[in-house]
Amino acid sequence: MMSFDYDLFVIGGGSGGVRAARVAAGEANAKVALAEEDRYGGTCVIRGCVPKKLMVYASSYADMPETAAHYGWEINKGAFNWESFRGHLNTELDRLEGVYRKLLKNSGVDSFDQRARIKDAHTVELDNGDTYTAKHILVATGGRPVRPELKNAELGIVSDDIFHLETLPKSMLIVGGGYIACEFACILHGLGVEVTQYYRGEQILRGFDDEARELIANSMKERGIDLQVETDISALALAGDDSNGPVRVTRKDGEEVEFDMVFFATGRRPNTDSMGLEEVGVKLGRSSEIEVDEYSQTAVPSIYAIGDVTDRVNLTPVAIREGMAFVETVFKGNPTPVDHALIPSAVFTQPELGTVGLTESEAAKLGAIDVYATSFRPMQTAFADKPEKVLMKLIVSQESRKILGCHIVAPDAGELIQMAGIAIKMGATKEDFDRTVAVHPTMSEEIVTMRSPTRSG
Ligand code: NDP
Repeated sequence: MMSFDYDLFVIGGGSGGVRAARVAAGEANAKVALAEEDRYGGTCVIRGCVPKKLMVYASSYADMPETAAHYGWEINKGAFNWESFRGHLNTELDRLEGVYRKLLKNSGVDSFDQRARIKDAHTVELDNGDTYTAKHILVATGGRPVRPELKNAELGIVSDDIFHLETLPKSMLIVGGGYIACEFACILHGLGVEVTQYYRGEQILRGFDDEARELIANSMKERGIDLQVETDISALALAGDDSNGPVRVTRKDGEEVEFDMVFFATGRRPNTDSMGLEEVGVKLGRSSEIEVDEYSQTAVPSIYAIGDVTDRVNLTPVAIREGMAFVETVFKGNPTPVDHALIPSAVFTQPELGTVGLTESEAAKLGAIDVYATSFRPMQTAFADKPEKVLMKLIVSQESRKILGCHIVAPDAGELIQMAGIAIKMGATKEDFDRTVAVHPTMSEEIVTMRSPTRSG
């Protein structure tokens, strides 16, 4: 029998790779190595979800003095200090990276702080020229933000750069209408930046429920974000001599507008460049993602891939599940396909969007549905004369009465949808929701008190 240096060699130290490595080593007693060229923790911990959510918290204090005044508090609104916040943020990220390294070490995983490429079906080569053989190789290299192909696109920043800015600009153009564009439009507006957002399509957050998209777009505009849809740009140029100075943007309608900074949130691409993947027979798809089967196995039987590099559902908890399912399948003799159905998720705009299952238009294409929806001003901010509205919406199959989709736009909708997601994953019907007693007074009680359909289709 052929002997290998390792049972498993993981390339990429993000959420998915680290989880697979430490579970394979810790629970299945596999001999495991992991290579990471950058910081441990990957996109989620270092330049994505975690610092983004901390920025969401930072920006959420902007409104507080004004709201608190209606509750009788006299609080003077101070200024936001980016430098101070960034210092705390970096300390926290250093701590988290340390946790990730420690988790690997304590599970007995050998880690290499280097870029790795695949030499053959069982061999990995590090940047320093060292090679290691492994019975299985797991590619978990994630993705990266991409700029659109237009003149001087490099003058614009991408999401990776946001956390390193020396100072916040006075004005910023955000290009794109997806998760990242909308979340950062809200965050940066909350931190005092004058935000303009251009989206090329008809409405932001394509793919989400239309009613939710509209409510979020209206709330963003009401808060003061200059959101312009059906607007795209064709070129960037420096507005003056300073290479860090304002940028002149040429729009596709010919108009020219100046911003202190331009931020492209125009999508992400899998990290598969120069890794030797195609040379050894791993198949890549149209967006250069690694093609895998339901067990995350590539066209080369000894090579597996999980997470954003496979461009299935690009969310941290999904990458983690794919990593766990891989270990079950390969190291625990328990073939486990990854379940990608009914994944709850949240968009951290202000207000947040929590969503699980089908949108109204997706569900209507599959069969007869009843839609239960209610939109209202929540108690806490209505008391302070704020116009903000929330939305609670259920899409129900007329035939089975099962809840096919749930969409919540509200403060902390991410927290709410996690709970609703359990019931919906269990196959709850509308009548199961109705049987549940309301928790009063809350926003979410509406989810169990909507008696008659708003519309059917
Ligand atoms: P998305 O794919 O969600 O959005 C990209 C946006 O950019 C779309 O609005 C798209 O328009 C637009 N766009 C793409 N190319 C161009 C172009 N050439 N010119 C102008 N506009 C363009 O990508 P994101 O970067 O926002 O997010 C990437 C992924 O990261 C998400 O899909 C999600 O899986 C994950 N993520 C999850 C978060 C969460 O769970 N809260 C938060 C952040 C990211 P169009 O709609 O017309 O294609």
